Amino acid sequence: MYKWIDGHNDTILRVDSVEAFLDGNDQTHIDLPRAKEASLGAGFFAMFSQGLEGMPDFSEHKTDKGYKFPLPDPLPLERSQAITNRLLSKIIEVEKHSKGYFTRVKTTVELEECLTEERFGAIVHMEGAESVDRDLHSLDVYYEAGLRSLGLVWSRKNDFATGVPYHFPSTPDIGEGLSEAGKALVRKCNELGIMIDVSHLNEKGFWDVVELSEAPIVATHSNVHRLCQSSRNLTDNQIDAIGRSNGVIGVSYVVNMLREDGAMDADIPLTTITKHIHYIIDRIGVDHVALGSDFDGATVPESIRDVTGVPGLVDRLREEGLSEEDLKQVLYKNWIRVLEDTWKQ
Ligand SMILES: [Zn+2]
Repeated sequence: MYKWIDGHNDTILRVDSVEAFLDGNDQTHIDLPRAKEASLGAGFFAMFSQGLEGMPDFSEHKTDKGYKFPLPDPLPLERSQAITNRLLSKIIEVEKHSKGYFTRVKTTVELEECLTEERFGAIVHMEGAESVDRDLHSLDVYYEAGLRSLGLVWSRKNDFATGVPYHFPSTPDIGEGLSEAGKALVRKCNELGIMIDVSHLNEKGFWDVVELSEAPIVATHSNVHRLCQSSRNLTDNQIDAIGRSNGVIGVSYVVNMLREDGAMDADIPLTTITKHIHYIIDRIGVDHVALGSDFDGATVPESIRDVTGVPGLVDRLREEGLSEEDLKQVLYKNWIRVLEDTWKQ
């Protein structure tokens, strides 16, 4: 198994203690011992601006026709920043106690070291820019603390942009495009070299980012709308635009974003995931697909279970005809290329 890079996890939100992450636990999808076992070299670690406050019980809102999950309003800046700072401090705490094994990754050189050495890298990601003030000063501070990836929104509207709520069946074309503050945030991310993540962004906002951003377009954890009509998935036009920008799509294992019927039922085979990967390869090429699990942020298929299920997924892709070179692209090379083209190192 090659060492690989994962596009999105919410693990830091779920770990109660540094020890639970370093020594292992049976609550989260990722911890250090299982990351080692699965050859995970680095991952995007999300600081989710909402924390766990006011999150609905998703299983309660399913109907025969699909779902429309009610979502909490964004928290005020001070509350969001408090949550973000706590999550970032947890990453730093883990790093301090890991004896050099776990590190925040700020350059692609460091990222490649995580693939060749006995190390595990965390790319710090902000999921929803509610912790960024309108003057964008806090972005400089977060950048210095290691922030290298940012999603303008989670699944709702904030000062910068509009996120897609979790609807099925639905298109992602819900709500308006970026605000002036959102456009300024995109420009500032380009200037600092922070990767912009379009997962969770609505379609009008997506096209604004495509027009405005100088960097490749990246969706860290999204799937194919043609195969599963969730508002969170990417239409063919969006997939094509990501290809044209030399960007990448991290395919997620979120069951209700994989299944044709949108159900929250985790009893699905690995082929339900590989179908999305093949679709993107067939449409825009193997240069533009990667893995973006959403471990610890969603219900994942029983056939994957946790991070240790990923080598099985890779075997499956190999059986389905991906060459060793293709697999390297999907597992780490595409992420490295996109970050080389995006980060100002
Ligand atoms: Zn997410």
